Amino acid sequence: MDPDASVRQTDTDAAGARLSAVQKGYFIDPFIKNFVPRAHLQPPRPPLINVGTFMRSTAIDDLVDQWLSKSTEKRCQIVSLGSGSDTRFWRIATGPHQDRLGKYIEIDFPEVTTKKAMTVKKSRELATVLGEPTQVTLGHGGAALHSPRYHLIPADLRHPPDEILGKTLTVPSSPNETKSILSPSLPTLLLFECVLVYMTPEASSGLVRWFVDYFATESANLGEDAILGAIVYEMFGLNDPFGRIMVSNLKARNVTLPGAEPYHSIESLPSRFLNNGFSAARALTLHQIRQNYVPTLELERIAQLEMLDEVEELNLVLEHYAITWGLFLSNPASSMVWSD
Ligand code: SAM
Repeated sequence: MDPDASVRQTDTDAAGARLSAVQKGYFIDPFIKNFVPRAHLQPPRPPLINVGTFMRSTAIDDLVDQWLSKSTEKRCQIVSLGSGSDTRFWRIATGPHQDRLGKYIEIDFPEVTTKKAMTVKKSRELATVLGEPTQVTLGHGGAALHSPRYHLIPADLRHPPDEILGKTLTVPSSPNETKSILSPSLPTLLLFECVLVYMTPEASSGLVRWFVDYFATESANLGEDAILGAIVYEMFGLNDPFGRIMVSNLKARNVTLPGAEPYHSIESLPSRFLNNGFSAARALTLHQIRQNYVPTLELERIAQLEMLDEVEELNLVLEHYAITWGLFLSNPASSMVWSD
């Protein structure tokens, strides 16, 4: 069996968990039902999974909203790596920050992007957000989809970044030429939501470093400052007893986590960015976020949604997931708005 099939399957799990949390009322996502076949027949996930999904989604949404609401004249570009069935583009493009969004680029394995491109083309609700049908085109045998703002790109992120990002992130500009989809002069946010754990540390470092080098070089060529942010959501600290249980549960489903190996503590997570050219980085566990950053009223609201018996287990799970965010500014002095 293709060893990557079980990694791709993690997207089906993530989408099912999201649908379950939405159906239970944890948060609103009108688009996720399109990405889960027979959505109305899906069984709900256990409360612990719903709470974890709520924490992960709302914390990342909050960071993305903060990035989009920075007061600058330029629109923002978002690149989601290992984007799976994520609905974030549709939520932003129809939400309060829609005018702040420049380009939104998603990358995943071709099998995943082909399925997503088909889903998007077939759903009126999703397709209308992309623009006029004549502005939406398929490429790479149906595995890529391009529209004025949204691009879906097939690639294996473990391949050398120059090969995949330098060549694949392009669209035809004339019969014999291509141009890059990435705009190095736009403030850009990279999203790695539960993807780097599946890759070796060398491959993920190469990927992070490629973006820093590309933005530093290309924006300098344009006489502009590079502004690059990144958010990683992942499991870590997997060598303690509870972590080992999580690892063996995933191993039983053929999923290994080489990317989690160097990260034993929350303090080690920012090095993912700081060792690869980023100027600043910070990490918080989902447990710390729940304790210190979720408004009490919101915690009370979700506590009413369903009975959660496994409070100890929930805390252990939330202590093994973290959100890390980093910032690279080629000219910190002229870009203070991005530092707070
Ligand atoms: N980011 C989405 C979310 O949070 O809902 C999906 C997360 S899912 C757990 C992991 C995704 O990463 C899958 O869609 C998988 O196909 C993708 N992925 C993992 N390794 C990859 C690789 N080497 N190249 C491209 N995509 C990869």
